[in-house]
Amino acid sequence: MAARVVPVEPFDLTVFGATGDLAKRKLLPALYHRMRAGQAPADSRIIGAARSDLNQESFRRMAEAALKEFVPAGDLDQRAVANLLAALDYVQVDAADPAGWPNLAKTLDGSTRVRAFYLSVAPDFFGQICERLQAADCLTPEARLVVEKPLGRDLDSAQSLNRRLASIFDERHVYRIDHYLGKETVQNLMALRFANALFEPLWNARHVDHVQITVAEQVGIGGRGAYYDQNGAMRDMMQNHLLQLLCLTAMEPPAAFEPKAVRDEKLKVLRSLKPIDGLTSVIRGQYRPTATEAGYKEDAGNPDSHTESFVALKAEVANWRWNGTPFYLRTGKRLRARMSEIAVVFKEAPHSIFPAESGWAPPNVLAIRLQPDEGITLSLTIKDPGPGGMRLREAPMDMTFAAAMGAKAGAMPDAYERLVMDVIRGDQTLFMRDDEVEAAWAWMDPVIHAAETASKPPAVYDSYSSGPEDALMLMHQDGRRWRDIEA
Ligand code: NAD
Repeated sequence: MAARVVPVEPFDLTVFGATGDLAKRKLLPALYHRMRAGQAPADSRIIGAARSDLNQESFRRMAEAALKEFVPAGDLDQRAVANLLAALDYVQVDAADPAGWPNLAKTLDGSTRVRAFYLSVAPDFFGQICERLQAADCLTPEARLVVEKPLGRDLDSAQSLNRRLASIFDERHVYRIDHYLGKETVQNLMALRFANALFEPLWNARHVDHVQITVAEQVGIGGRGAYYDQNGAMRDMMQNHLLQLLCLTAMEPPAAFEPKAVRDEKLKVLRSLKPIDGLTSVIRGQYRPTATEAGYKEDAGNPDSHTESFVALKAEVANWRWNGTPFYLRTGKRLRARMSEIAVVFKEAPHSIFPAESGWAPPNVLAIRLQPDEGITLSLTIKDPGPGGMRLREAPMDMTFAAAMGAKAGAMPDAYERLVMDVIRGDQTLFMRDDEVEAAWAWMDPVIHAAETASKPPAVYDSYSSGPEDALMLMHQDGRRWRDIEA
């Protein structure tokens, strides 16, 4: 059954950095899919803005090539491609140069539609671009700004970035993307928690033993070596994606599914995080070379690097609901598989009525899988079918969304599709507010500082493993174990 699509009003979306990787790989395909689905009206305008010397025609050719590369061939339909290309325009601008900006103003002039500016460029340019937009008279009172990580590299820089954006855009019009929040499964976590009577009564320290959040990647740092080495897993992944997932898992039920209520609750979680003392309960690692592939230091081009490509840590949410239930978070590169999930591990049944030979009833686990196949699994203990007495075994209740919805695998909309449409609709629920970003940095800063000043280098781990041994110990010492990293 096709999903019901509510069209948005025609809009003018200007994409800075329109010739870059993010624009080609994610934004143009997302806009294509939404236009094809009838949600983004074909008379909308998507204005590419970048430094390259292109015109409307050559930008359209570039966009067409990007669609061919990044949209599955079976989803490419000639009319829809032609519609998207017809919506494209191009203006040459450089953040560092005032030339070109009046052309952008002229292109937008007279339009009363929703106007949004997506900054798909390095954050160093955010402030400058906003200021030039204002100086060139490109902004209407309701104009929206979309930015994405990295949003600062510590609390200070995040605050100054927020102040600079706030000097031009009202917070009501700033959309800070964390694309994890646009994933169907993540939104489903909220549906699961707040639209079912079943889980919420169990969602607390009395019933939940611990929570594990894993974002594992198989790729190394590849061509981003120099950039990555300045940041590491804590800045690149932990401060934003993993903490956001933690917030959605741990937050109190918001009064309504609307931006202020949801973001207020997430903020409370961030502010309840117990400070970590130095690097206690923080494990960092760097991947080893293989026979054919370079290790972390070589990929980073820095033989003395102490930057981590893996981090695992134990976080505690110090409030009534979660006191005593730790949240173990881990993320890394060059791990065994590409796998992201939130696993809520419940406590064991308080008493077993079954004889020892029935076997052990493992705790129930609710696993919310973000990657590779979005879905939810609840593991239950059942009786092993057939004769042989009361033997217990674990059985998963599995719901892969694509299968459950009758769609073919891979047909789930990409997070950017949802998020770009939310910008046009003016719905900030799934975007981070300024104070959330700052609270996340405020908690991470001391940990990052402790790592950067530690004399002990990160532990080395085998490429395509589960990370350093020490990370296993982080759980073992609490009598727990990580779930397998498997696709
Ligand atoms: P990229 O290097 O491929 O593209 C950068 C774009 O910025 C190019 O179009 C370039 O022309 C433009 N640009 C560079 N200098 C400019 C200037 N002075 N004035 C105007 N435009 C200029 O980078 P990318 O991978 O597309 O990433 C863009 C931003 O999005 C980065 O901040 C990145 O961290 C972030 N991001 C990227 C991804 C991704 O999947 N690629 C994911 C999350 C966040």
